[in-house]
Amino acid sequence: MRKPLIAGNWKMFKTTEEAKAFAASFKKIYESSDIQVAICAPFTQLGALKEAFKGTDIKVGAQNMHFAEEGAFTGEISAAMLQEIGVDYCIIGHSERRQLFAETDETVNKKLHKAFLAGITPILCVGESLEERDADRAFDVVKSQLVKGLEEITAAQAEVLVIAYEPIWAIGTGRTASPEQANEMCGFIRDVIDGLYGEIVADKTIIQYGGSVKPSNATEIMNMEEIDGALVGGASLVPEEFIQIVNF
Ligand code: PEP
Repeated sequence: MRKPLIAGNWKMFKTTEEAKAFAASFKKIYESSDIQVAICAPFTQLGALKEAFKGTDIKVGAQNMHFAEEGAFTGEISAAMLQEIGVDYCIIGHSERRQLFAETDETVNKKLHKAFLAGITPILCVGESLEERDADRAFDVVKSQLVKGLEEITAAQAEVLVIAYEPIWAIGTGRTASPEQANEMCGFIRDVIDGLYGEIVADKTIIQYGGSVKPSNATEIMNMEEIDGALVGGASLVPEEFIQIVNF
């Protein structure tokens, strides 16, 4: 019933030429299926990727956006600018943005509202640090990120929302949450959504796992009941590697 989403997060990797080369190779080995695939690329590569993936069902996402309509925000990109390119998704609240760029639950919430208004599907990232997990606070932390991040987001919006559970200790570290740990937290996230919006919405929300997903562990992660896809960093940079995850 839920269509799983496997999205690559290229972070600050690839020039436009490299992005075009990726798209050309990936299109040759990609076959459309009941899995939705997206590439979340740096801003300057979004237009080229939209063009390259024209005629396919591969979607394109940004990795951040500003919450203001427009204004004196040097270096920022608005939802309208992404909308103009036809961007489908936008990652919001990635832990690297929370940790390195002072992103808070409040800015995450403002960005979610703006993304929905622009018709861009947000991929809301939540997840605990290792200290928080070791202190048995993982569930409280994730619940708080969800409740604050989703303030005044409507049920109709929550239905199309994508949530990525990304434990910070598993991102780019090679250390993956066990499929059971990931499944447990994704199930907990669905319970929180159920509490906020009810079961019908919770049944529709796509909940991904992210954190060192690679070809060797994609199958067991994707086969977990509560996990509806993956947000993939490092392993999304090489077409031959990413396709193995997509075809898990
Ligand atoms: C990410 O950047 O969202 C991520 C999960 O990275 P990696 O797969 O490299 O751990």
